[in-house]
Amino acid sequence: MRSRRFFIETWGCQMNELDSQRMAGQLMEQGLLPTRAVEEADILLLNSCSVRENAENKVFSRIGEYRDLKRDRPGMMIGLCGCVAQQVGQRALDRVPDLDFVLGPGRVGELRETLAARAAGRRLAHVGFPEEKHYEIDTIARDGEYKGMVTIIEGCNKKCTFCIVPTTRGPERSRPLATILEEVRHLVDYGFVEIELLGQTVNHWREPGGSEDFADLLDAVARTPGVRRLRFVTSYPRDFTPRMVEQIGLHPNIVPYLHLPVQSGSDSVLRRMARGYTIGGYLDLVDRLRATRPDLALSTDLIVGFPGETEGEFAETLALVERVRFAQIYAFKYSPRPGTAAPRLPDPVQPEIAGRRLQQIFAAQEGIQRSLNGDLVGRDLQVLVTGWGREAGTQTGRTSCNRVIHFSAGSPAPSLGELVDVRVAKALPHSLIGRLTNAPEASREPLSARFPILAESNR
Ligand code: SF4
Repeated sequence: MRSRRFFIETWGCQMNELDSQRMAGQLMEQGLLPTRAVEEADILLLNSCSVRENAENKVFSRIGEYRDLKRDRPGMMIGLCGCVAQQVGQRALDRVPDLDFVLGPGRVGELRETLAARAAGRRLAHVGFPEEKHYEIDTIARDGEYKGMVTIIEGCNKKCTFCIVPTTRGPERSRPLATILEEVRHLVDYGFVEIELLGQTVNHWREPGGSEDFADLLDAVARTPGVRRLRFVTSYPRDFTPRMVEQIGLHPNIVPYLHLPVQSGSDSVLRRMARGYTIGGYLDLVDRLRATRPDLALSTDLIVGFPGETEGEFAETLALVERVRFAQIYAFKYSPRPGTAAPRLPDPVQPEIAGRRLQQIFAAQEGIQRSLNGDLVGRDLQVLVTGWGREAGTQTGRTSCNRVIHFSAGSPAPSLGELVDVRVAKALPHSLIGRLTNAPEASREPLSARFPILAESNR
């Protein structure tokens, strides 16, 4: 008899990726198998992201495509999950009669119950952020060979005027230290070499009802035997304390890479964004981090064309980019999100002006990246092998400072998930080319038998 299959399409950030892994685990526990072919699916989940422009329209248009598949497969169920699900709730069920259920990000652990309700004839819009949640670490279908993601804090209490996350992911909820450490040990026992701690404001983690903060958590996770690489995302600049900076200097297994979103280089724009820090404070933090960990690579998020942004304010952002010399930036033109405060601000910036500013940022950054990557030529870097290259006999990986590197595989080639040494031979603006100089002797057992690969991601 044919096994029932599921397909999950994931949009957006690592939090959504992990939520998809949690849902996949619940389905596999019920005997379903993952498929990469959407037309084979008996259960089809769209794990949506509302950070995208016109997110709601894009999601409904994709559901429309899936409805056509359902006509040929009458028993098929379609569920809308993720941030757009939280935003639209019951409205989605009213609008699309073929949609079987809606499951918000605060309800990911309740997929089984939602499917059971549907089988009993009820179409649920299961949204909101309940206090008690199921978080079963044993039923997360981990994706890939090397990186285990661990949510430590969900939601956000900040009110940045451009951001919809506090609405779609709810108020901040920290997970207890003991359960986080249990999950980390579980991943290490299975052979994951890299642990990534996740949260919208990851460094605002606090022990529920206790006094420990993110510095204590970093220390405890970094000391866990078997954690060979530790990263975390996303840090909020204002929440970075001196103790956290100190931890980054103390533990060599904390990678020399930090994503530290600044959003703008202008204090007046930051005030309109309600970010709660100044550029002076941000630069002071950057200097302290670099003094503690001189090899630290920084990346950031930038929004250009925020309402009221003048040429002078934009020039301050360009100056910041030149001053900090980020290893990578994620820059976007401002676009309004429903239910946020920024669209009510005066003096919107014309799209063509915002577009020109974005190009200026990219041009400045390209030169910086080329130069920073050039500085790495001749150096030996520790690389996590993440895949095979397009050319025969080549592999790709990530350096500890999060750069993509392509290198000759050697013979025998290292397994995916191994840590190897690679000498950088050539630098490109967005990647490096290198040569394997040292691979481990023992080949690593693949993890994929225990953690099957998920359906296609749409990042
Ligand atoms: S800190 Fe600001 S930008 Fe980040 S999730 Fe919270 S509201 Fe959004």
